[in-house]
Amino acid sequence: MINPFRLPEEQERIPDPAILVIFGVTGDLARRKLMPALYNLARENLLPARFAVVGFARSDWDDQKLRSEMRKAVEVFSRTPLIGPVWEDFAQHLYYFKSHYDDVEGFRRLATCLQELDAQYNIPGNRLHYVATPPVVFESIIRNLGIAGLNQPASPEGWVRIVIEKPFGTDLESAKRLNARVNEVFHEEQVFRIDHYLGKETVQNLLAFRFANSIYEPLWNQKYIDHVQITVAESVGVEARAGFYDQTGALRDMVQNHMMQLLSLMAMEPPVALEADAVRDEKVKVLRAIKRLTPPDVPKVVVRGQYGPGAINGQPVPGYRQEPGVAPNSTTETYVAMKLEIDNWRWAGVPFYLRTGKRLPKKISEIAVYFRSPPQLLFEGQLEHGFTTNVLAIQIQPNEGISLTFNAKIPGSEMRIRPVVMDFRYGSSFGMSTPEAYERLLLDAWQGDATLFIRADEVEESWRLLTPVLETWAQMPPPDFPNYPAGTWGPSEADVLLALDGRRWRRL
Ligand code: NDP
Repeated sequence: MINPFRLPEEQERIPDPAILVIFGVTGDLARRKLMPALYNLARENLLPARFAVVGFARSDWDDQKLRSEMRKAVEVFSRTPLIGPVWEDFAQHLYYFKSHYDDVEGFRRLATCLQELDAQYNIPGNRLHYVATPPVVFESIIRNLGIAGLNQPASPEGWVRIVIEKPFGTDLESAKRLNARVNEVFHEEQVFRIDHYLGKETVQNLLAFRFANSIYEPLWNQKYIDHVQITVAESVGVEARAGFYDQTGALRDMVQNHMMQLLSLMAMEPPVALEADAVRDEKVKVLRAIKRLTPPDVPKVVVRGQYGPGAINGQPVPGYRQEPGVAPNSTTETYVAMKLEIDNWRWAGVPFYLRTGKRLPKKISEIAVYFRSPPQLLFEGQLEHGFTTNVLAIQIQPNEGISLTFNAKIPGSEMRIRPVVMDFRYGSSFGMSTPEAYERLLLDAWQGDATLFIRADEVEESWRLLTPVLETWAQMPPPDFPNYPAGTWGPSEADVLLALDGRRWRRL
């Protein structure tokens, strides 16, 4: 596919020799995502010949233990089967460094260790730090990197970058504080805040679709679009993450990051160039243009829900409050629906409806653009299923693709009309397995391309919009949790939210 962000000659660029340091390498993310992504990059010859990966954590591991644990992880989680010789070659580059995240001396020893690896691999001091720990230790790691001089290149021609995992703050104040700590140690150009949704092919294709085609862009505004629905539905419950999720909830876990990213890519103006700051300038403008939510607005335009016992695929499942690790009176939301309005020339009067939840009937992420009805309904008497407006649905996962619903005549002597679908699917059109989001994002950070990473002002704008919702909810505990059975499409108030505007959620 056309990659919206890179020129053709850059497609296969091999990144500079460098050392990747993964903080929290013993954890779930490293096993499930980072190591399989690195292995697949190595398999596709997209890593430089001279590189090392240093895993930093507190557990009592050594190089051999890291290599054997990561081999098991790749066997289970890689999108391609493990090939013995490729793995052996890659694993030679893996090293373990044991220390504590708050131990300054440990970071000084790390600096020495990295210099030794530089000499061994002939690396000019390039460093990619990857903070993959729970957020409680983000600040210690960043501070100690600064104290140990690991925020500076180890040679005049070298570079240092830092990737920071989500969640980036839990509200506006904490995000501002973390940004301030990060920017005391690193320049903003060195900082790569990750949202793995941006590494997904279909999310990037949204920009190719919008800006590499001329037929849709003239329609992409309030004159032709009636409203937009963004759905990020999961059928799973909290799984093993109850401790984290019960402190977090759906608004922080999904809306603040992934859904606001989808919304801003969908609604942004064309950037002046396909480069990091130009794209991020336009995304942040969208976030700034969203009408602020005041406490009295919140109950009118935001619906929260929590699942009770129910069934998924015919199998009974417990309610949220019965999940292991969740307080029996928890008021954490597992579902959010909201209506947002973008107060700018392009989108005035076009509502954006967002919904996300756990234990919904299926896993699906989609942006659906509803076009306005034609000015005159010539065929009213001939419609088989009532009138259907044109809907452009961009499916992000699973079964990535784009479909357009339009009305067509049913063959035959009579004039009967019904909606049909024009369908593009990645799998059938390109016939290859798409890379995992983390492969793309690791490579981009390694190459210094920040287009698919979140800038400080973006993260703060998103929190600025949503913090009043969190504050209002904190003042008003939900009276009716649980308010939707597992395996249904959320609380009835979410349907009312759209029904009041004469609309309804798309059936998925
Ligand atoms: P883990 O809980 O598995 O933690 C990673 C490692 O950090 C642990 O192995 C542990 O290593 C260390 N650690 C854990 N808790 C603490 C603590 N309280 N204080 C200090 N060190 C601790 O986290 P994940 O790997 O699941 O996630 C890492 C980051 O990535 C998080 O910010 C998460 O939000 C984000 N993320 C994770 C995803 C996932 O799929 N897991 C998906 C998207 C984002 P040791 O004890 O050896 O030092």
